[in-house]
Amino acid sequence: MDNIKKAAEMIVNSTKTFALTGAGISTESGIPDFRSDTGYYSKMDPMEALSRDVLINDPKRFYSEGFVILRDLYDKKPNKGHLALAKLEEMNLLSGIITQNIDNLHVKAGNKTVYEVHGESRNVHCMDCGTQYDFSVMKQKVEAGEIPPKCDRCGGILRPNVVMFGDMMPEDFVIAQSELRDTELMIIVGSSLTVSPVNFLPNLVDKMIIINQSSTPFDRKADVVFHEGAGEVLGKILDEINRLL
Ligand code: NAD
Ligand code: ZN
Repeated sequence: MDNIKKAAEMIVNSTKTFALTGAGISTESGIPDFRSDTGYYSKMDPMEALSRDVLINDPKRFYSEGFVILRDLYDKKPNKGHLALAKLEEMNLLSGIITQNIDNLHVKAGNKTVYEVHGESRNVHCMDCGTQYDFSVMKQKVEAGEIPPKCDRCGGILRPNVVMFGDMMPEDFVIAQSELRDTELMIIVGSSLTVSPVNFLPNLVDKMIIINQSSTPFDRKADVVFHEGAGEVLGKILDEINRLL
């Protein structure tokens, strides 16, 4: 049986399925990942640029380097891969998505259950009083030269709702883990599966489909592996499911 057919049948027959996605599902939307040859690591060290340490101790650098990564996500659009996952949820074949991405594209694609375990870039908050603002408020302040951007209510420093290197994991990560307790199948899309602690989540499920251009440490454990583009493979799997149903 070919792999598309096998993956489609696994999804149709699964009792509960979650997707785990990473930067690779969004490269087709024009957002570089971290570790490919054209990724952010080829230009800067995002582990530093997007770190809590730099945000607190060197805000000028944070708002000139790390912030650029976040600002570039602002107007990006979901691609065929995101849309296929939204369709699977609408068809009740996918219980939700656990994503490492901070680009909001699963939400924009229409998915309802999205655990953003590295946070999101729709909103920002004041580090002192916690007031939330739309990302556009921070963008305007930074573009007007207000670095670091300050809270209108208390004057505290604003920061993105993104989980930065050095931050604690958010509640979404805890909920995601408990969702996986009775999940049978995980569809992993566009993740190198090298970032901890997310890379231990595949250990919590029995069955696995991996769609990732390069190999991952879990390839040997997976039932089906595609080393191809996410949009095309997810599109073909969706077509095959529509034929089966
Ligand atoms: P990663 O950069 O470590 O790995 C991405 C993987 O995707 C690579 O193995 C690559 O081979 C694969 N890939 C690239 N394009 C692909 C495509 N079209 N189809 C299929 N596979 C493709 O990414 P990661 O595992 O998500 O970890 C990086 C961290 O960086 C995460 O914590 C994430 O928060 C953050 N990040 C997020 C974004 C985003 O929000 N879009 C972008 C860059 C980095
Ligand atoms: Zn405040």
